Amino acid sequence: MPTTLSADDLKAITDRLTVEADVLREELADAESKMPALYADCDLDPADVGARVSALAALRADADRARILLDRVVATLPRVGTPGFGRCTVCGDVIGRDRLLAVPHTELCIVCARAGTGARP
Ligand SMILES: [Zn+2]
Repeated sequence: MPTTLSADDLKAITDRLTVEADVLREELADAESKMPALYADCDLDPADVGARVSALAALRADADRARILLDRVVATLPRVGTPGFGRCTVCGDVIGRDRLLAVPHTELCIVCARAGTGARP
């Protein structure tokens, strides 16, 4: 094991990721269910159309964010407890236990995250 995570830590991380995936799936479904209603009404005055375009853009941004995070969470779950889990994908160092418990789907150690060497936090 590259990290000093205990069996309890791994269970906590797995539970956290599982809950996070469920929450993200709900957010995604919620955002996607609202989009058709925003597209539906075509007889709108221009001011209303503007507001709807903004609302749609915000919904899409929310949905995209949720989808990207969900992909990461789902990709991380089977890796929990494997030798590569808890290693920074940039420098290869061990990611700290506290950081992994706080952000289980992270791929970066705190040093690389702060340096912005990866595109993802
Ligand atoms: Zn690193």
